[in-house]
Amino acid sequence: MPRFGLEHSYARELPGCSVPCRPVPVAAPRLLYVNAPLAEELGLDPGPWQGEVGDALFAGNRLPDDAEPIAQAYAGHQFGGFSPQLGDGRALLLGERIDGAGRRRDIAFKGSGRTPFSRGGDGRAALGPMLREVLIGEALHALGIPTTRALAVAATGEEVWRDRPLPGAVLTRVAASHLRVGTFQFFAARGAVEPLRRLVDYAIARHDPALAAAPDRALALLRAVAQRQAELLAQWLSVGFIHGVMNTDNMTISGESIDFGPCAFLEAYDPATVFSSIDHGGRYAYGNQAAIARWNLARFAEALLPLALPPGAAEEGPEQEAALRQAAERAGVVIDAFPAWHAAALRRRWRAKLGLDGASGRDDAALDAADDALLRDWLALLQAQAVDFTRAWRHLADAAEGREAPLAALFAEPAALSPWLARWRARCEQDDVASGRLDPAAAARERAARLRAVNPWIIARNQRVEEALAAATDAGDLGPFAQLLQALREPFTERPDRPDLARLAEPAPTAFTAAYRTFCGT
Ligand code: AMP
Ligand code: MG
Repeated sequence: MPRFGLEHSYARELPGCSVPCRPVPVAAPRLLYVNAPLAEELGLDPGPWQGEVGDALFAGNRLPDDAEPIAQAYAGHQFGGFSPQLGDGRALLLGERIDGAGRRRDIAFKGSGRTPFSRGGDGRAALGPMLREVLIGEALHALGIPTTRALAVAATGEEVWRDRPLPGAVLTRVAASHLRVGTFQFFAARGAVEPLRRLVDYAIARHDPALAAAPDRALALLRAVAQRQAELLAQWLSVGFIHGVMNTDNMTISGESIDFGPCAFLEAYDPATVFSSIDHGGRYAYGNQAAIARWNLARFAEALLPLALPPGAAEEGPEQEAALRQAAERAGVVIDAFPAWHAAALRRRWRAKLGLDGASGRDDAALDAADDALLRDWLALLQAQAVDFTRAWRHLADAAEGREAPLAALFAEPAALSPWLARWRARCEQDDVASGRLDPAAAARERAARLRAVNPWIIARNQRVEEALAAATDAGDLGPFAQLLQALREPFTERPDRPDLARLAEPAPTAFTAAYRTFCGT
């Protein structure tokens, strides 16, 4: 079988953190989808994947000659409750490949059969949810949001049983790494301090090489992860993304989005929005995600705490207690800083979405407060009138050019919008004056272009995703999936010339969204 140029640093450098395990061959493998742009990014040639080779390769029936598949161990807090052993119950890491840009990327299967971590599960995945991983990963990527991505999907020709029999599939996932908060929790929960220390060193070498000489490496890693998550959460919120299951085993160290099970995008703006069928308390609601990220980071900090003691030191004693207390205090400073980091990242995003320059790097608390109020009032307007989040932002570009009608049309009571628009215009002018944009018509054109480059025309609309997955699952028709994928790859480009694509960008009927439920049982 063709080689993928795989390396195996995880298995080599972290003995005891994974177990070798082979995919379970499937009955009738068939390659359904290859991500050509991602293959190119990886420097892999999809040419040899035509026909039987690709079918066998991406269903796990035959492996690249240089694959050394392993199931990774991890633990995790799921909906707040700790499971000391989760692990890859249906995933396998084939190895890592250095991509064209010199980045080490994991190549892993999902749905490739049972592993020692499968517990009661079948180790398999259904086609629909794997195609959802493709769509969401590519959508987030095209929006500029760090994410794991799918390289391929292969049908297994076997049924998997969920609430009904469904066609099975194997996904090939590419990630900056599969290190998660839960990976660290696995070893912390077992008091396995040396593996934990090696894990920190490995994570730093892979994601934060500049921190290799930091005096307190665990603390430095915690800070780096917290800063990445602060930014990631800001990006999710800025496009209305709801992950749906932000358990600590689904939070990466790399800062990439991962595991798109019950995820969904906001339609009408409401921070309490929850789509997941099992999230009764709204733990993972849209507006709660940053608080949950902080909670997860606190669990990460706890997992790293045992590293405050020097290697080989006794575990108990006054000196040890003092060292642990100090480490906990230092970690607490990072956890407490997270909301401010996130707020700053989010303000940057909102400002861009409002077409504002902000204070160009200078500290300007008054301007920050005024812009925060402008944003708050805008969101309050959207919420009060149940306005489509994505459309409202997009039509700000038209308003910037003096055409308010498309935006106003989204509001049941557009009169409420007018005073806000006046404030926004005044604020835009303030920026234009400060930046020397003296020709108002040119400034408007330029602002509209900037707005259209950050406020997507199309997101992965829930009803369109469901339609695409249903066509693939129920009729074996991948046409709607392919078309939606094409549209999501260019989210900022409006396509009035293509009514078929324009249709995909339309908000769902309110009744659809009100009844929409997403599921974890993938
Ligand atoms: P997830 O909800 O996909 O993040 O998975 C949470 C945990 O459940 C992980 O340990 C998975 O490996 C495991 N899991 C999910 N689905 C299955 C399945 N069908 N078979 C075995 N393990 C599974
Ligand atoms: Mg997971």
